[in-house]
Amino acid sequence: MALFSSPPPAAQLGWRWPHFTATELSCSCRKHCKGEYFHDPRFLDALEAMRRDVDPLIIRSGHRCRAHNTAVGGVQNSYHAKAIAADIAVTNKDRARILQAAVNAGFTGLGYGRSFFHVDLGPARAWTYPGALGLWVRALGFDPMRNPLKPQKQQA
Ligand SMILES: [Zn+2]
Ligand SMILES: [Zn+2]
Repeated sequence: MALFSSPPPAAQLGWRWPHFTATELSCSCRKHCKGEYFHDPRFLDALEAMRRDVDPLIIRSGHRCRAHNTAVGGVQNSYHAKAIAADIAVTNKDRARILQAAVNAGFTGLGYGRSFFHVDLGPARAWTYPGALGLWVRALGFDPMRNPLKPQKQQA
């Protein structure tokens, strides 16, 4: 794991995650930094695992430099700022599939938003963003805050 001031060339990182790039997971502020990027192979492995069940998997936000995280109202200890997290675009149609894929892939930090789903590999925890829980409950048919989803056995 390492922090870079801008996305390094793929070869330098031994890039082996075909569906993602360091650039799309780097800070997108274009103001406070030059595309700060936090490299964590374990996180990328989990994203690739998730991508097998969710195609396309659209990253709205990856790593954020501290200044950008503050500017967008992110909490100070956010995994977007201290390491790497991703906000993945969701619609009502694919909430159930995206949640199950994230849990199966081993993501432990889950943030339920209206139009995005936050995933990280921090301590196991879950939270909702304003106005989002009802959308998730309706799409899933259960309340994921009360009944956390368990990983599904993958078929061999
Ligand atoms: Zn930045
Ligand atoms: Zn997030």
